[in-house]
Amino acid sequence: MTWLVTGGAGYIGAHVVQKLVDAGHDVVVLDEATTGTHRLPPQVTLVQANLTQNQTLHRLFNDYDFQGVVHVAARKQVRESVEKPLFYWRENIGGLTNLLTAMQVHSVKNLVFSSSAAVYGQPQLGSDAIIAEDAHCNPINPYGATKLAGEWMAEALTVSDDFKVVALRYFNVGGAGNANLGDEYSYNLIPIVFDALEKNESPIVFGKNFETSDGTCIRDYVHVEDLADAHVSAVEYVSAAEPKFTAINIGTGKGSSVLEVMNMVAKVSGIEFEPKFVQARQGDPAALVADVSRAKELLNWVSQRSLEDIVRSAWLAKNP
Ligand code: UDP
Repeated sequence: MTWLVTGGAGYIGAHVVQKLVDAGHDVVVLDEATTGTHRLPPQVTLVQANLTQNQTLHRLFNDYDFQGVVHVAARKQVRESVEKPLFYWRENIGGLTNLLTAMQVHSVKNLVFSSSAAVYGQPQLGSDAIIAEDAHCNPINPYGATKLAGEWMAEALTVSDDFKVVALRYFNVGGAGNANLGDEYSYNLIPIVFDALEKNESPIVFGKNFETSDGTCIRDYVHVEDLADAHVSAVEYVSAAEPKFTAINIGTGKGSSVLEVMNMVAKVSGIEFEPKFVQARQGDPAALVADVSRAKELLNWVSQRSLEDIVRSAWLAKNP
């Protein structure tokens, strides 16, 4: 039986595809694939389309007897989502609506959905900053809102149509499985710091007066290979589950500050630099770290790789 991976030619999707193939699954990828086809293993079929192309979608579900779908395809830039909210709702929620419709029509009921810690927004947390899945969700940007609405839409189908849904709430994903799979965009802290160094500029730290050990923001950085392993576990879990919706945090349970990340970049790259401190970004929570107990309990998954593994693999993918 075959799994459909939407967005499988992207940075995260391609890591998921590789791990699914390694675990013995047949995989078909649906992706616009404007970039990224080089990331796919040769035995994987690529259907080059997006989720607005309903005819292609239905043909695809006719052609294959899918066991389920891993839905990674989405727009994911927070700032862009603030500037173009309708684009985000159309792409992320419109796309998911079309996908779920095709799944419903063709009775494909297993879904692993790429969600995000952005669903939590700016939670008021205790000193450990650990957040569990049953925390109140209150996204503070359209990107996070589309992820939460996506969870709700998929959850509704667990009631109406006996769907089985796992939403994986990604924390801060980084690193690369190999040089071919690196993140070619600079939307997140680690690639942004690499870019600054490449241009001989000072990497920028947003805010230095947070109530954290060194005053800079703390996040939970998880290696993309660990994240991909979690998808393999989720695919197996959802196949065996009863009809229900389950949200699962995917992080390490350990936070690192912006300065710790920068120090790791200096260590790995061998480049000494002084970061430049600027005002905090609006809406940035001081600290956000995953409670990973549910992932361990339900998926038997725990992250294996360190911050150093993340930064080193990302650096090697950029500087092969
Ligand atoms: N950050 C920073 N400088 C940058 C980019 C990000 O200090 O050039 C900080 C940001 O404030 C946050 C952390 O790095 O605390 C991770 O940011 P990113 O945008 O990668 O992910 P987020 O946690 O915001 O989803």
